[in-house]
Amino acid sequence: MNFTIKGPGRKIFEIHVVGEGTLRKNAKFVTIFDENLREFVGDMFATMYAADGIGLAAPQVGKSLRVVVMDVSSSLSEGEMCKFDGQEVQDIASIMPLHLINPVIKKYSSEICSQKEGCLSIPGFSGHVKRPREVTLIFVDQKNASHTLTCDGILARCAQHEIDHLNGKLYTDLMSHQDKKRFAKYLAERSEMQSSERDDGDSGAPDNLQS
Ligand SMILES: [Zn+2]
Repeated sequence: MNFTIKGPGRKIFEIHVVGEGTLRKNAKFVTIFDENLREFVGDMFATMYAADGIGLAAPQVGKSLRVVVMDVSSSLSEGEMCKFDGQEVQDIASIMPLHLINPVIKKYSSEICSQKEGCLSIPGFSGHVKRPREVTLIFVDQKNASHTLTCDGILARCAQHEIDHLNGKLYTDLMSHQDKKRFAKYLAERSEMQSSERDDGDSGAPDNLQS
């Protein structure tokens, strides 16, 4: 599934943060597999790398489409399992970067594990999330060819996090009550910061208008 990711003409999208744009919407299925889609996937990769992320979903850049890009090669641990199109993958980094179009999770393991997650759309915050340890998903690539992926570890976690984005869900929805309280505080501080930024803007008005 190799194609040019880095190179001249790649766009770096603005990443939407919590409270903005299409983050809470259900993204649309991709139905047209053309050069525009190819370009979009390339730009998504460029944006993800520029932001130092391991995954990015189209709703995070304001596009309501079921497209995900991932590169977990920097975050892999020893002994993670991965099967791609039925073939055991020894070196998971070798199938990175990976893009998923119209992904659907077909199978979840009953075993659950908890791990800290962060999100490019929720800067400066992280929290623990319980998720199934192993998943099997089906998806198509930019040429509309079907694939199956079974994995655990960071790849399973990242895929679940990104697919949640396609359904308007954020990892903070899945946190413990305690972490949700911390998140409410984070949101309150953010909106306070934004309103004080607005006030600062107003103070630029000439004195004679402040009567
Ligand atoms: Zn995210």
